[in-house]
Amino acid sequence: MGDFLPSMYICQTKICLTSFYSDAKPKQYLRNDRKPVRHFFAKHPVTLATRKHEESKLKMARITDIRTTIWEWVGPVAPMPPHFCTTAGDLVSDVSGSIAGFRFLGWLIVEIECDDGTVGIGNAALAPHACKATIDNYLKPLLIGADPMDTEYLWESMYRRTLPFGRKGIGMTAISAVDLALWDAKGKILNQPVFKLLGGRTKSKIPVYASRLYSQPLETLYAEAKTYSDQGFKAVKLRFGWGPKDGLAGINKNIDLVKTVREAVGPDVDIMGDAYMGWNVEYTKRMLRLLEPLNMRWVEEPVISDDLAGYANLRAMNKVAISGGEHEYTLHGFRQALELGAFDIAQFDVNRVGGITAAKKITSLCEANDVAVIPHAGQMHNYHITMSSYAGPMSEYFPKVPVEVGNELFWYIFDGEAEAQNGFIDLDDHAAGFGLTLKSPDPTEFKLTS
Ligand SMILES: [Mg+2]
Repeated sequence: MGDFLPSMYICQTKICLTSFYSDAKPKQYLRNDRKPVRHFFAKHPVTLATRKHEESKLKMARITDIRTTIWEWVGPVAPMPPHFCTTAGDLVSDVSGSIAGFRFLGWLIVEIECDDGTVGIGNAALAPHACKATIDNYLKPLLIGADPMDTEYLWESMYRRTLPFGRKGIGMTAISAVDLALWDAKGKILNQPVFKLLGGRTKSKIPVYASRLYSQPLETLYAEAKTYSDQGFKAVKLRFGWGPKDGLAGINKNIDLVKTVREAVGPDVDIMGDAYMGWNVEYTKRMLRLLEPLNMRWVEEPVISDDLAGYANLRAMNKVAISGGEHEYTLHGFRQALELGAFDIAQFDVNRVGGITAAKKITSLCEANDVAVIPHAGQMHNYHITMSSYAGPMSEYFPKVPVEVGNELFWYIFDGEAEAQNGFIDLDDHAAGFGLTLKSPDPTEFKLTS
């Protein structure tokens, strides 16, 4: 019985042996006599194995290694037509639609290995080479030897020690990838899904919206939109293709996109539109006045992410709900955004905003401000936040398509991703961590750099 039990004599006080030791009813073992607890184990020998199992799980794990690997897609890539989507670069280039050369074909995978054999997996989908260098040179030394359960301390340690050059962008994306790996490890050590550690299940299933519908000829746009409504999605998102440089003709083309999708999906499916920061405030005001009668659920990222005052200005028009935040970072960034009244819907991405450690705080902040949280990109790290919070009514869902922009690459890197059925996804109550494993990379598809 080891040296634990001799000190556990039951004396004058009632002691309730909890389900930590067995599934026996606790009430049965309330005692007022001096019989030792070993009497309980003598009656229930199976509980000894259970106890040893529980004790071994409670041993503190230590981080022994951090591995960073860039998965760079080298397989075939689908072309993107002109005016595929507006982007922030449109406002400084001669033509709009400059997203044609704007792809995310490299992802960073972070694996945190612990001395108990646990391996936590995280990822970053922005600037993988720079994030890898940041982790290898600045974050890894802070993590080796640490307990992966200490996510609060480790996050603050990483944040404060990279603050002069980190804060937002690459620094915080690197921290996010590490934090995801830590939470995945934490879930695996406790044998629980991450969402169970965050508050548990708040929904039987997560409603998801089909997030594709890039700007394209109206005939094919109609067909693609109808496909998603036929598959049971109750909300779809399109991308606007024209911005300020395209004048009134471009405005009319943007409106035609929305009208075409409405015709395709009917009156009972929500439509959202994403400008990917390719507009300015003046242009967006013109668009919002015209979009209001079309009953859009939201207009997303109309202006650059640093122009929070611009978001607040547009939101104050109260024409169409304004969403944003997929390029905003940390609790501090969202506090500022919410104080300004920038968003109706907050759309952080957990693998940018600071990982689960930051996302759970931002989600609570949004709940307190009655701002909906609908994270960017779907993916498991975002789904676990949505599942565990009443502030998250829905998730984004990138259907699996041939590699194109690159935001669909997770389908090609991980096994275990949640697949939509009739407009919903579900999470496995019994899959520890985020429930993901790495696929074996095909060298004709991926070049790996460690
Ligand atoms: Mg977006």
